[in-house]
Amino acid sequence: MSGSLAIIGLGPGEARYLTPSALAALEAASDLIGYGPYLDRVPARADQTKHASDNRVEVERARHALMLAAQGKAVAVVSGGDPGVFAMAAAVFEALEAGEADWRRLSITVEPGITAMLAAAAKAGAPLGGDFCAISLSDNLKPWEVVTARLSAALAADFVICLYNPISKARPWQLGKALELAATIRAAETPVIFARAVGRPDESLRILTLAEAIAAAQTADMATLVMIGASATRLIARDGQNPIVYTPRSVTKSPCATSQGRT
Ligand code: SAH
Repeated sequence: MSGSLAIIGLGPGEARYLTPSALAALEAASDLIGYGPYLDRVPARADQTKHASDNRVEVERARHALMLAAQGKAVAVVSGGDPGVFAMAAAVFEALEAGEADWRRLSITVEPGITAMLAAAAKAGAPLGGDFCAISLSDNLKPWEVVTARLSAALAADFVICLYNPISKARPWQLGKALELAATIRAAETPVIFARAVGRPDESLRILTLAEAIAAAQTADMATLVMIGASATRLIARDGQNPIVYTPRSVTKSPCATSQGRT
């Protein structure tokens, strides 16, 4: 089959965060597919066709991309951040697995991008210097009980926890619940980062305590990445500047001994 499919990470925002390899893959495409706001970030040439879609129809969008590639097009599917992190790459492979046998002969590549948690961590200092994990708070694709079970396990294991999809108009309460759950295991003064629109002109970084974060949960939105520190995560205060947030690389105590919960 002559068609190809590149699944491309655009990074968190501005074009300077796009890798040269991802840029080359975008330039090689005849057809660009993605959620409207992500596609808007790609300056397409007159000879490239953009197919914008709604955010909720990922597998349908993936099938569309595979069908176009099977017709011989050079298709690029774009995602914000990294396409493999809560994004289109898994949707494409889900569609490939369930789809036409012929599609498996296509050339399919994944171009990595800077994911939100890495962009946010770099702005804050080095909060991911120790062990960490990422959890999507969206319960569109999994039951909320799975989210809380994973969150509880990660809190007990003393990971730094990055929360993607923390809140939306349709899901207004999940972040508050997640932070309240954290406060049953982590100390009230644990650093929590609200990193919003990192790498974009309206970027903001708020460094709060866990107690403050619970009170501020409703001020987060869909463009926010929330990071809950581990027990060793700490601040280096600086006059007139944001403190630096970092997690030391070395751990000397077991998670059970280091948790400083209220209960
Ligand atoms: N593939 C994307 C994540 C998609 S899930 C990536 O790798 O970054 C969407 C969630 O990612 C948002 O709800 C938010 O939590 C986070 N996110 C994406 N871009 C962001 C940015 N520029 N700043 C902060 N968080 C962002």
